[in-house]
Amino acid sequence: MSELRPVPGRECGSCTLCCKVYNIPEIQKAAGKWCGQCKPGRGCKIHDNLPDQCAEFNCLWRTDAAMPAQWKPDQAKMVAIIHPMTRNIQIQVDPGLPSAWSRQPYHDHLRQWATKNMPKGMYVVVFVNELATLVLPDQDVQLGPMTPDQVITVRRESGSSGAVYEIKVSTTRTLPDGQTVEVASTSRHPVRSAA
Ligand code: SF4
Ligand code: SF4
Repeated sequence: MSELRPVPGRECGSCTLCCKVYNIPEIQKAAGKWCGQCKPGRGCKIHDNLPDQCAEFNCLWRTDAAMPAQWKPDQAKMVAIIHPMTRNIQIQVDPGLPSAWSRQPYHDHLRQWATKNMPKGMYVVVFVNELATLVLPDQDVQLGPMTPDQVITVRRESGSSGAVYEIKVSTTRTLPDGQTVEVASTSRHPVRSAA
């Protein structure tokens, strides 16, 4: 999921949270439950024969020196990545503490990342299992159940009664005849002050 190399000194140590929060189809492991191969806090029992998804994975805390130290996943109770397809900043929360992302200083960091990256089309999306929340510079918008590869687009529009965000969530499906179709839903949210 991340081809970036770890930053020297940022070792997993006692963290094993990515072995809980993600689904791993190759070994039929569901999201939000500990992998049967994991010794929580100690590591993987099949380290020499990892599923590809595990072998390729590094979280953002390990690969981005700018990530604050308190984002170490076993402390934050969340795993952050840049999603390889959407390029969104995706936060997968430990369902054992589903409010982890709304604590400080984490929520302030999410707002700052949303403000900095929204103009580049990179969005901050928080998942608790499959339930997604989009963090915008001025508000959090619940999107409901989503898959991480669904595409989010946010347009800020001016209107007679003030600016609004138009949020579109879309999926591209391939039909049996090979044609692709886009299935999308949109919602509109007034921009709050100072955004
Ligand atoms: S979540 Fe990050 S720090 Fe924790 S075990 Fe996985 S890769 Fe290592
Ligand atoms: S196979 Fe190993 S590395 Fe992969 S989720 Fe399970 S315990 Fe973690």
